[in-house]
Amino acid sequence: MKKICVIGGGAAGMAVAVMLARKGNTVTILERGERLGRKLSATGNGQGNVTNVHMGSGFYFSDDPDKVARILARFSEGDTVEFLESMGGIFLPDARGRVYPAGRQASAVTDLFRREIERLGVDVVFGAHVNSVTYAEDFCLKWEGGQMHADAVVLAAGGKAAKNFGTDGTAYALAQQFGHTVTPLSPALVQLRCDPKEVRGLKGIRVDANLTLMRDCKQIFATRGDVLFTESGLSGDAVFRASSYAQKGDVVMLDFLPDVPKERIHAAFLRGGALCVVHSGLGRMLAAKGDPERLVKCFPLTVTGTLGFDYAQVTRGGIPLGETDENLMSMLRKGLFFAGEILNVDGVCGGYNLQWAFASAHAVSEGI
Ligand SMILES: Cc1cc2nc3c(=O)[nH]c(=O)nc-3n(C[C@H](O)[C@H](O)[C@H](O)COP(=O)(O)OP(=O)(O)OC[C@H]3O[C@@H](n4cnc5c(N)ncnc54)[C@H](O)[C@@H]3O)c2cc1C
Repeated sequence: MKKICVIGGGAAGMAVAVMLARKGNTVTILERGERLGRKLSATGNGQGNVTNVHMGSGFYFSDDPDKVARILARFSEGDTVEFLESMGGIFLPDARGRVYPAGRQASAVTDLFRREIERLGVDVVFGAHVNSVTYAEDFCLKWEGGQMHADAVVLAAGGKAAKNFGTDGTAYALAQQFGHTVTPLSPALVQLRCDPKEVRGLKGIRVDANLTLMRDCKQIFATRGDVLFTESGLSGDAVFRASSYAQKGDVVMLDFLPDVPKERIHAAFLRGGALCVVHSGLGRMLAAKGDPERLVKCFPLTVTGTLGFDYAQVTRGGIPLGETDENLMSMLRKGLFFAGEILNVDGVCGGYNLQWAFASAHAVSEGI
């Protein structure tokens, strides 16, 4: 029986703690905040999109896509559902393959974990903002006002996105203490910025649009879904998906009437103009720009950046998979493992990041 410390009580940390405790290990979660699973409770617009039936490494960005594929193959989306249902609850896919708890409440998923963690007797220390991990015979973890020794450590402290959930990027330093590197970091699944003048007066308008991301006149990515105009640019699930690929200077092309052929739009314009075919605020803006009939199918906006880490759902980059073995153990310090977003793996929108949190937790639990 091993004594294991898990740093971070998020999706990955709670999952690994449950998996290890079920195998009879003594597990302690050290969480800097006052509650477990705060970010998990906010996922999927509060509905908890925990995985996706359409799974594969092609939905992820990483330094080692093959290793991502191998880890996902060892813990599939079906395994995630089975694992979550082993704690209670029912999980069902929607028409697009996104899997949610039947009650559509993310906090209910967190509650399953909290209950299971308590049932298994996993020790949880709140307010433990770990600031040092060293090794001499065993691991020594320190935080203000406390310290603990362990045979193995799981660093599951998340990335740099959405710091209001306790993830400000400072945890990478714990891995760097053992010589690990951190790849360049950038915000992903985040609102896109564009010139505010271009979207003036559109704030709050939501459309179901075709979105095409162009770079140097070449298509980089295309999707269909919700596009929401904000004060500084674009939000919505189609935009979040595109943000995984977008760079400053790219052009977002929007087709506001993806199901309507040009001839039908032409006829409608002859009869009533732009105000009659789209949201009136949007129609006024298209008319003011001239040539609204063309713009309604092909409206360009230049990306000037993103809203940044504080507003991002995930972090692109992290500790390279290349510095870990098949069970995500550090190649630089035996007994030190990584799980979740702290690694250089991020998925597209649709339950892929939580699937990574659970699949990586599983690999770690097998390694330990
Ligand atoms: C608003 C929002 C919505 C999202 N929706 C979805 C979705 O629907 N589906 C999906 O798949 N993904 C979604 N994501 C992404 C997903 O939530 C994350 O990828 C996932 O939670 C990462 O899990 P994690 O355990 O690695 O990190 P986190 O969940 O971020 O947990 C890390 C934990 O570590 C703690 N911690 C940090 N540093 C220390 C330290 N030094 N000492 C002790 N504790 C520390 C933090 O307080 C935190 O509790 C969403 C993210 C956000 C922000």
